[in-house]
Amino acid sequence: MTDFIIEPTATPTDPARRAELVANPVFGRVFTDHMVIIRYSEGKGWHDARVTAYQPLSIDPASTVLHYGQEIFEGMKAYRTADGRVSAFRPDANARRFAESARRMGMAELPEELFVQAVDALVRIDHDWVPSGDGKALYLRPFMISNEVFLGVKPASEYLFIVIACPVGSYFSGGAVSVWVSEHYTRAAPGGTGEAKCGGNYAGSLVAQAEAKEQGCDQVLFLDARERRYIEEMGGMNVMFVRDDGVLVTPPLGGTILRGITRDSLLRVAADNGITVEETLLDIDEVFEGAASGRYREAFACGTAAALSPIGCFRRTGGEAVFGDGATMGPVSAKMRQLLMNLQSGRSNDSYGWVHPIV
Ligand SMILES: *Cc1c(COP(=O)(O)O)cnc(C)c1O
Repeated sequence: MTDFIIEPTATPTDPARRAELVANPVFGRVFTDHMVIIRYSEGKGWHDARVTAYQPLSIDPASTVLHYGQEIFEGMKAYRTADGRVSAFRPDANARRFAESARRMGMAELPEELFVQAVDALVRIDHDWVPSGDGKALYLRPFMISNEVFLGVKPASEYLFIVIACPVGSYFSGGAVSVWVSEHYTRAAPGGTGEAKCGGNYAGSLVAQAEAKEQGCDQVLFLDARERRYIEEMGGMNVMFVRDDGVLVTPPLGGTILRGITRDSLLRVAADNGITVEETLLDIDEVFEGAASGRYREAFACGTAAALSPIGCFRRTGGEAVFGDGATMGPVSAKMRQLLMNLQSGRSNDSYGWVHPIV
């Protein structure tokens, strides 16, 4: 157990103002009073773990992250349970994925226990910021940047690990989203960084996301880089479909798809609730045909930020694939969403050991 130096902020948010912010959360713009910061340097290892006031960082202009982008992050949530306590959901899975991302990006690996302790420490000091109510949570953003002052190209010798948090409501405003199938851009190639949760993957996806908006769509879907044929995932969420035989299908992980914890949780919960799951390659043409014929009845995106949101349609040059009525969540998606949210909020018995009580 690492001892964190605790330095409570000298200027906490006024409780009435905080209550207002927590009651009407806006995604990603308002942060809690504190942050966690832990330093790494070669030789010394991880040291100087602190919980301190949320504040700007001071970074040398020659810091490696500003030039070569050694940056990884996680996205997770702390939920207020029915009894008023606060729990995180599978933080050990985030810790493991964070370590895997660090390895892929040549960064220092943060011990998984330290990752979980850091998240716990921040939630403990800022627990008043955890909202209650359907779809609301405290979003936690652990991340790591390289921070060596050097313009040479090599894995850095110094890193900062930081955790910040913000109260959030539902990521999407509700209703089914429309999705543009990207023809020009891909997100990840075999041997690349697609499986790492690194900022660079997002940087590379933004122009495709902008193109989706120009086409009048909410989100973008990427196909595989080799054949431009198989469905991979969205810019920041995995995708699943429900077929007319009731089977829940999703593309298999294979190095180019981010290993979503929501994806993994849904597959396990579905299987345990009598829904057959299949991880299989999904040809985009077959899915377009299958949407028209009724073979593919439901489609949804899944990830921590949005939990599970229905996909109304896919669009590409010269065609549209509409799932279900194109507007509302299908019955299997709705059941999956409810099962997941019941677990996260502590409303159903956690037979998986996924709920991690903090406060
Ligand atoms: C984070 C992320 C997801 C979803 O992962 P969860 O662990 O379910 O939040 C999916 N795709 C990409 C590209 C991501 O970065």
